[in-house]
Amino acid sequence: MDFNDDALLLSEILAKLVRAQERKLSEDHPQQTTAPALPTEESSKIEPTKEKKKRCGCCNKKLGLITFPCKCGGEFCALHRSSEDHTCSYDYHADAKRALSTMLVKVEAKKVDVL
Ligand SMILES: [Zn+2]
Ligand SMILES: [Zn+2]
Repeated sequence: MDFNDDALLLSEILAKLVRAQERKLSEDHPQQTTAPALPTEESSKIEPTKEKKKRCGCCNKKLGLITFPCKCGGEFCALHRSSEDHTCSYDYHADAKRALSTMLVKVEAKKVDVL
């Protein structure tokens, strides 16, 4: 039995294994081809949206630069900006209740702290 031949074979197998391993590694971690994302032309193509004339949600009066947005999502003229002056859909009662309940919770928490 020729020991040297065996050793040669072994080293060959080992070399093959190493090569295979290296190939596998390079497959697992391919060189990242991070091409810089060029700004697409689309962004420059977008037309400036035509300015819609805002109107009061109550009297439909054209609003100028100054509008009065309400919590209900509408925008109103100076005359109708207050929730009482337009048919406001915003639930102020729920809002007040929520505020009250959080206030109460805070008060209770304070009480607990004192005790
Ligand atoms: Zn109005
Ligand atoms: Zn409103």
